[in-house]
Amino acid sequence: MLSEFDLIARYFNRPRHTGGVVHLGIGDDCALITPPVNESLAISTDMLVEGRHFLPGADPESLGHKALAVNLSDLAAMGARPLGFSLALALPQADEAWLASFARGLFALADQEQIELIGGDTTRGPLNMCITVFGSVPTHHALRRDGARVDDDIWISGSLGDARLGLEIVTRHLALSETDTAIALERLHRPTPRGSLGLALRGIANAAIDISDGLIGDLGHILQRSMLGATLEADLLPIGRALQSQDPQTQLEFALNGGDDYELCFCAPPAKRDRVIMAAKQAGVVVTRLGQIVPTPGLRVLDSAGHPVKLHSSSFDHFSKP
Ligand code: ADP
Ligand code: MG
Repeated sequence: MLSEFDLIARYFNRPRHTGGVVHLGIGDDCALITPPVNESLAISTDMLVEGRHFLPGADPESLGHKALAVNLSDLAAMGARPLGFSLALALPQADEAWLASFARGLFALADQEQIELIGGDTTRGPLNMCITVFGSVPTHHALRRDGARVDDDIWISGSLGDARLGLEIVTRHLALSETDTAIALERLHRPTPRGSLGLALRGIANAAIDISDGLIGDLGHILQRSMLGATLEADLLPIGRALQSQDPQTQLEFALNGGDDYELCFCAPPAKRDRVIMAAKQAGVVVTRLGQIVPTPGLRVLDSAGHPVKLHSSSFDHFSKP
């Protein structure tokens, strides 16, 4: 039987990157990291709980990827550069096949994003993985939620709604073409954090957030914190490729209220449109302009005739009731 320390040594303690910001990693009472001078530490925690965020029996490799991806997405939304992360893991048993697969997914993304695992905690318990990421950002260039200004353009990276469609496949056995099924499940299980875009938007975007709970809800946080409103044009929404197979109302609902997209929604002055497009190009991501920030609080979504669109759902929950 694998002991707690064997388990950590075998699956989580890996050769160290040299010359980085991590001075002491796994194995002591604390890790030591040194953020660059004149930068703030950016810290965020996200938990994945079995039965809540994923179904029992979910593929461990995808869980490893997603647990880190959702945290990196928060750093991206802050314009912060990843420094290190810690992992708190509760496992029902030390299942080596599960651990090997989980670690594979986790470290594939960690290596790609050049972020190092610096510590954590391991215990027996209901399956639960909690990652804390540490990043750094020049304090005044952090992409906060409270920085939107009247007349700012509202932008979104990538596309919306395919992850929500993936949830429909997993929970309700929705049948789609093989290609659309693959796209939707990939978007649900293996989200791509937009780290390069977040970095490239420093000094350009006034505010940003990542879309984890749906565009309306998450943009709502920017509006609330900035004490402003917004107008969006439904026709401009970048509908996910798989979601395009569905009826127009489902497309609209999933794009606006579906969760798990992990795209960046950000606000930038119209005078910086060229710089936004350059930043997106540099980051290799498509960005779409959806609307404007307005002084009147509230979020209005308009159709092509300028009428408010009707939505059946106000949150992604609507479709996920058992
Ligand atoms: P302590 O009792 O001081 O909290 P632990 O015995 O829990 O230390 O952990 C020993 C070392 O292994 C620590 O450096 C801790 O950060 C690291 N560690 C424990 N679990 C994990 C994990 N799941 N991933 C990475 N590092 C871990
Ligand atoms: Mg401990």
